Amino acid sequence: MSDSVPSRPAAFLDRDGVINVDLGYVHRVEDLEYIPGVAAAIRRLNQAGYLVIVVTNQSGIGRGYYDEAAMDAVHKALRDMLAQSGAAIDAVYACPFHPEAEIERYRHPDHPDRKPNPGLLQRAMRDFPIDRERSFMIGDKDSDMEAARRAGVAGHLFQGGDLDAFVQEILAA
Ligand SMILES: [Mg+2]
Repeated sequence: MSDSVPSRPAAFLDRDGVINVDLGYVHRVEDLEYIPGVAAAIRRLNQAGYLVIVVTNQSGIGRGYYDEAAMDAVHKALRDMLAQSGAAIDAVYACPFHPEAEIERYRHPDHPDRKPNPGLLQRAMRDFPIDRERSFMIGDKDSDMEAARRAGVAGHLFQGGDLDAFVQEILAA
């Protein structure tokens, strides 16, 4: 096995409810309202050597509420805003599929990427040299915790408050 690229732990972050306030199917840049402490939290993870990877269900695409271009614009704005505060997101993985999607190509009874399935995390672990044992997921729903469990990483349920304080506790544990 080649050790040319050292593996790093990853912090998998859910999007809505962890990075931005979950207003329901957020798909416009003007609806991005950030969770307190998010930039500091991500900066802290960057400095601690973690890859920061966003894993998000975006069934609004399958439901026809918005398209992938709108989602990409939101993610670009989000990354740009965080970058201005010195916080880097390494990758974003999104799942547009849903069992009852209006748009047929997004209709899938149980897509492996859709949390609580672990597909998005597993894709990231294929794309990056990730040290799974030291990795964790932060989400605000049980489905996030389930996806983490099934991907073999620790899950931490964020129930609001300051994200940086939450991350600080995880890193100190
Ligand atoms: Mg969420």
